[in-house]
Amino acid sequence: MDYRSLGLKVGLEIHQQLDTAKLFCNCNSELSEIVTSTFVRSLRPTQSELGEIDAAALEEARRNLRFRYEATPNSCLVEADEEPPHRMNMDAMEVALIAAMLLRAEPVDEVHVMRKIVIDGSTTTGFQRTSLVAMNGHVEIDGKTIGVPTVEVEEDASRKISERAGEVIYRLDRQGVPLIEISTTPDISTPEEAARVAGHIGSLLRSTKRVKRGLGKIREDLNISIRGGARTEIKGVQDLRMVSTFVEKEVERQLMLIEAANELARRKAAPVQKAPVDLSRLFANTRSKIVRDSLRGGKVLALPLPGFAGLLKGKLGPELAAHARIAGVGGIFHSDEMPAYGISQEEAEAVRRELALGEDDAFALVADEEARARKAIEEVAKRAIFAIRGVPEETREPRPDGSTAYGRPLPGKARMYPETDIPPVQIGRQLLDRLRASLPELPAVKIERLGKTYGLHEQQCRQLVEDGVDVLFEELVVAGAEARQVATVLLYNFPEIAREGLDIEAIRREELFELFKMLREGMFSKEALPGLLRIMASKGLGPREAAEEAGVGAMPMSEVEKRLAAIVERNRDLVMQREEGALKALMGEAMGELRGRVDGKVVSDVLRRRIGELLDLSQDSRQGKKGPEHP
Ligand SMILES: [Zn+2]
Repeated sequence: MDYRSLGLKVGLEIHQQLDTAKLFCNCNSELSEIVTSTFVRSLRPTQSELGEIDAAALEEARRNLRFRYEATPNSCLVEADEEPPHRMNMDAMEVALIAAMLLRAEPVDEVHVMRKIVIDGSTTTGFQRTSLVAMNGHVEIDGKTIGVPTVEVEEDASRKISERAGEVIYRLDRQGVPLIEISTTPDISTPEEAARVAGHIGSLLRSTKRVKRGLGKIREDLNISIRGGARTEIKGVQDLRMVSTFVEKEVERQLMLIEAANELARRKAAPVQKAPVDLSRLFANTRSKIVRDSLRGGKVLALPLPGFAGLLKGKLGPELAAHARIAGVGGIFHSDEMPAYGISQEEAEAVRRELALGEDDAFALVADEEARARKAIEEVAKRAIFAIRGVPEETREPRPDGSTAYGRPLPGKARMYPETDIPPVQIGRQLLDRLRASLPELPAVKIERLGKTYGLHEQQCRQLVEDGVDVLFEELVVAGAEARQVATVLLYNFPEIAREGLDIEAIRREELFELFKMLREGMFSKEALPGLLRIMASKGLGPREAAEEAGVGAMPMSEVEKRLAAIVERNRDLVMQREEGALKALMGEAMGELRGRVDGKVVSDVLRRRIGELLDLSQDSRQGKKGPEHP
């Protein structure tokens, strides 16, 4: 796809957790599985100081939720909003300033804490504290400059544990954990570039060595638009390898919406009639279990969608359904997918007749308790009207497969006001000079140094840095491991194992050092590494137990000779036929038997020698035989 001609614009907002205590109290910032108590709060949309109520806040209020908070050993009265926040954690501020310098941004003279309204209950206070630390930075990717207008430090929200009818459960362990928030300008113009900018900023943050590592510790919001589309914000992407996929899929979605809007215009589709029609009686004898269950005390309401035929299935249908769900229903039935869910062709046709629909027209049905069904139809109608206009501005939630689901309307700008409980922090020249004097190596510099020092290709060094394993790589090599082997494990084996669905994080750091030490001591060969890593990741075993489990361990040379001699003997005919060419075939068999216990090079040397010997021997015996046969 030619993204530049589509006018793709992507801006990133990167949230990285810092490895310090919490921002406004002394609680530690680790997640906790221990719940010490719970309490319930409900939030109402409050007006900002300018007297506006945010569209997103209003929609959230329509969801009628209450919020239950789980206190943990690492939450105190500050997280519960029973005690004012303490002064800002200066460790966190330092990391933010270091990051800002690496981003070539200009630190502010005085840091002011602001409150940003939060409407989904994810903070007990109803707002998130955030402070501008630096401005006007930039990064360079392949000679292109992407602006970094702001670097902020802010408190993380509570962790959503579950959501069920009417109640959301949040855990306070994460509330107050310091985050750096880095925003880029929307100058990114391809999905790959988005991934590279995200990777670059991620590696820059890791180079401070004071940020948290692992899934969920860095989260990206992706702001995406194309020409004729609108800005949508995908909130909280955790897997950086998926950034480009999310961008690609969002472009496809916006193209689909633009195309649908054009088709609706061509059909002169008028705004949808808002009042739903009660068609419960048509389903009195339905075979559809879902509809039958809903009709017990509920209604089947229909909404005509003039001009929408053929534009629902896999296109506008999921969009309409997502809006129906705001009202708390499970979803909608629409005419593009009929007959389905037990609703018959006849019932679908009866609905069409009842609504007096033409060939180009479609309909949506909601079967539920009446008030809820009415609310759902209202939401569907609103979204359908927007379909005629094109792409709505909204936030979307990432799904693991790279698709997204509707979140809420894009929040407006009227969401910040000063936090009066916390005095501003002066950023002194002395502090800045001290931090500047000990800035970590920039990624580009590091890539070059790794290449020179360890004799690796530039591409590999770049990947080590971008994957965030550069520090680990160097530590392992300094501890005596072989650079190429470490690079292979970190860059190829690890991602491969992760793709198989195994948890690489389960392998502890010390275990990795131990594994390479065992390799160095010849306790197994390098071919055994991937298999051992798999066992360690899947069974949580240490390297020694894993080696035992895999049955690897160095084999005495006498045993190696014996095994390989047997293999050559078994394949005598093949060797006679193919002579030296048999080596390749025998290697496969030999490695199948000895993998992990003997180095591949040793196996091939011994095999080659044995094959040579067998061939010499047969040559001799053939020559020897000539005598008696042909006297
Ligand atoms: Zn606390």
